[in-house]
Formats: sequence, structure tokens, C-alpha cells
Amino acid sequence: MVNYEVVIIGGGQAGITMGYYLKMKKIPFVILEKNERVGDSWRKRYHSLILFTPRSYSSLPGLQMKGPVNEFPTKDDMADYLESYVKQFDIPVMCNTVINQLSKQQNGPFVLETNKGEIRAYQVIIATGAFQKPFIPNIIEKNQDTFQVHSSEYSSPFELPGKDILVVGGGNSGAQIAVELAKDRNVTLAISHKVKFLPLTIAWKSIFHWLEAFGLLFAGIDSRKGKWFKKQSDPIFGKELKALIKNRKIRVNPRVIEVDGQEVIFEDNSKRKFDSIIWSTGFVPSYDWVNIRDVISPEGKPIHTRGVTKVKGLYFIGLPWQYQRGSALVCGVRLDAEYLVPIIIQMLISILRLVNSSQGNACPS
Ligand SMILES: Cc1cc2nc3c(=O)[nH]c(=O)nc-3n(C[C@H](O)[C@H](O)[C@H](O)COP(=O)(O)OP(=O)(O)OC[C@H]3O[C@@H](n4cnc5c(N)ncnc54)[C@H](O)[C@@H]3O)c2cc1C
Repeated sequence: MVNYEVVIIGGGQAGITMGYYLKMKKIPFVILEKNERVGDSWRKRYHSLILFTPRSYSSLPGLQMKGPVNEFPTKDDMADYLESYVKQFDIPVMCNTVINQLSKQQNGPFVLETNKGEIRAYQVIIATGAFQKPFIPNIIEKNQDTFQVHSSEYSSPFELPGKDILVVGGGNSGAQIAVELAKDRNVTLAISHKVKFLPLTIAWKSIFHWLEAFGLLFAGIDSRKGKWFKKQSDPIFGKELKALIKNRKIRVNPRVIEVDGQEVIFEDNSKRKFDSIIWSTGFVPSYDWVNIRDVISPEGKPIHTRGVTKVKGLYFIGLPWQYQRGSALVCGVRLDAEYLVPIIIQMLISILRLVNSSQGNACPS
């Protein structure tokens, strides 16, 4: 017995965009989401988070986010927008549903072990996001004395004890958190690479407008521009951090190599004590629950071409650089979804033909 033609795992922006296109094509599907509400992955992020993409680049197909297009939404605006999107297009999302294991029967359907029982599907799209499992470097084992938190668990300055704060990692989250804390704390930012800054707007237009205008934002990884763009390190959007560093309100240190007790040792062998450390050191993929061969590499990364895996009927959506820079951004996920939809329809037609002719649960393997 197959419960669904298509199941999407994850009801974030990537999953619901995929859902939007399937709905438009009248393909039956369901989205399974572990959180209580659509948008919760944004709600759970730190309180002061403001998107670096303006509303015009923070909207999904078919529904512009309300408000001035050039303004930057808060994380809660984004969360509420995603929830309203699902309502507007009547996209079926089954919340509070955790997929603990995904497997596939030989010549049969996909089997999803969930907290609500077993679900079977002919096709599965994994949309669980690139930011699931926090990464903290393995250099802090000896330390129990300093308050430490990963940026994914940090919510606001009130929870951080003390005056001297170390933020480790110079990505956009680290930059935003360091700027927020610099208002009334002594902030040190540890950065392992030379940081590039890009303004949020140039000539009253979002930097994303210009990246699109120069053909970079959505350039495919097989194009000359796409290849070049992929090699560039991610910039920090906005100039606030740059100004605070220049005015010595935030001190910059090199990479952290060890944390011993309260003492932090940096790459230049300098040592300092801090009251609190925020590890803004990114995320690692987390697909231990995918129990199908040839889908996840030994390094834990999805094996795919433009989101299509070697296993028929199994896809990814929302991966960083799945095909272009915008793949893991709100503005770009639609392009990857548009690419996958005809492949999913074609596969569904051939599966249904096979099922009708064999009267069983057969799937092409
Ligand atoms: C701090 C931060 C700031 C960002 N700012 C921007 C920005 O300004 N503009 C922009 O375009 N992008 C931004 N991004 C990037 C990207 O848009 C977001 O990360 C976005 O949330 C990714 O959407 P997603 O649907 O791929 O993943 P998620 O939003 O993470 O959604 C995945 C969903 O899958 C669910 N899930 C996971 N595992 C399971 C499971 N086993 N069973 C069931 N459900 C599961 C999760 O609960 C989650 O709801 C930012 C990212 C971060 C981390």
C-alpha cells in the first residue's frame, strides 16, 4: 500500500516552494515537517536577525511578501510569511512529523519511518535545509569554565554572562551577533580568513539586484560566470561590522586554536580570557537518517546532479549551490524547483504505468 505519490521532507522555504509547483501541476503530495509550525526554523534563530535580502528577494513564487520591497524583513516577518504562503496556496503540510529513517524497498516504494508510523511514497524530495547540525571545532574539550553557545542556540545578549565576549567565525551570523553585542560589551571577533564586505545597497538598489543584473546570482555552476562566482568566498553583507572594527569598537583576532579553561589561544599564540564565547562556526550536513546507498557521500554530503540523485524518484532541494548561488536563498530556490518538476511528473507517469500493468507496488529501480 502506497500512501503518497510524492512526499517532501521538510516544510521550510525549499519544501514549500516545491509544494507550490506540485500543487500548480495538480500532483498529489504531502510535506512532512518536524516543527510545530511552518516558519519555525526562522522563529528559532536569534532575536535580532534581520535578513540580508530585501523583501523583493525574500519572496517565493506567486506571493510577494507584504511591505516596502526594498526593506529588510526580520526573521519573524519571514516565518509568518512562510506560514501565510502555505495557507494562501493550500499546501498540505503535516507538522510535528519527524522522519527518523528513509529507506527504499528493492523495486518498491520509499519507506519513511516517522514518529507517527510508517509512510510509503513513490517519490521523495529531501528539503531538510543546509543548517541542521551545528558545527563546533573540536578544540574545547578541556573547557568547562566559560559560558559557550553555538550561534544556532544563541537568542539574545541577555543570556550571555560577563563583559568580555568572543565571537568565533566571520560569516554573516557572526558579524551580526558581534555588531549587536558591541553596543555594551567588549567584543572580540576571531576570523580565520580575510573578510570581504559588500554593501547591502548600491544606488538605492539591493546588492542582490546588482548580482542578478550582472548575471551572477542565478548563474549555473556549469557556466563561466557560475564557476567563477562559486570560487569566491562568501562576503559579509552590510558595512556595520567594518565601521566598528575601524573605530576599534570590535577587536579582530586570528583563528582560535585551543580553549583551555577560561583561556583562549589564538593562531598567533596570543592568549586571552573571556566570559562568554559564541561559536558562529557554521553547520555540517546531517543525513544519518537516509538509509539508501549512493545518496550520501562518505563525507556526509548529498550525491546529486542539480538535485537529482542516482536513485530514481529521490531528489534534493535547497542545497547550497545545488545549481546556482541562489539555490539555498529564498529568491533562488524556485529555479531548482522548476527544474525538478518535469522530472518528477515524468517519473510519476512511468511509475503509475508500471503499477497499473503489474497491479502491485512496483517501482522502476
Ligand atoms: C542565520 C541565517 C540567516 C539567513 N539569512 C538569509 C537571508 O537573509 N536571505 C536568504 O535568502 N537566505 C538566508 N539564509 C539562508 C536560507 O534562506 C535559510 O537557511 C532557510 O531557512 C533555508 O530554507 P530551507 O527550506 O532549505 O531549510 P530550513 O528553513 O532549515 O527548513 C528545513 C525544514 O526541514 C525540517 N526537517 C529537518 N529534518 C527533518 C526531519 N528529519 N523530519 C522532518 N522535518 C525535518 C526542519 O524542521 C525545517 O523546518 C539564512 C540562513 C541562516 C542560517
